[in-house]
Amino acid sequence: MVSKQFLAEQEKKLDEAKKKLEAQLSGLAQESEEAKGEWEPKITFFNAGTGNLEEEADEVEEFSTNLALSQNLEEDLENVNLALAKIKKGNYGLCEKCGKLLPEERLRVYPQARYCTKCG
Ligand SMILES: [Zn+2]
Repeated sequence: MVSKQFLAEQEKKLDEAKKKLEAQLSGLAQESEEAKGEWEPKITFFNAGTGNLEEEADEVEEFSTNLALSQNLEEDLENVNLALAKIKKGNYGLCEKCGKLLPEERLRVYPQARYCTKCG
């Protein structure tokens, strides 16, 4: 059984992680107006078409780095939201594949973990 105190601690951590991820994401991307929870990269190609190939290449590189980074953040945020929903539903800490309770140490390190070490 997951203790109430442990759950409260995890919820606090997840809330903090959520705020941090949203702040990081809002620097890199903007939340889609059509689809809540979907993030679109912010960077645009200012120098596209100027003929400066080196600058254009730099921007393309920056764009893909930011895109990859914001996708990672978005994925993490999704997991955090899932974990928060699970706390409310009362099935927090259970592996989504085998249904086994995840070890507390694992959840302490990574509160949004979805799978046990065997399934993840
Ligand atoms: Zn499992």
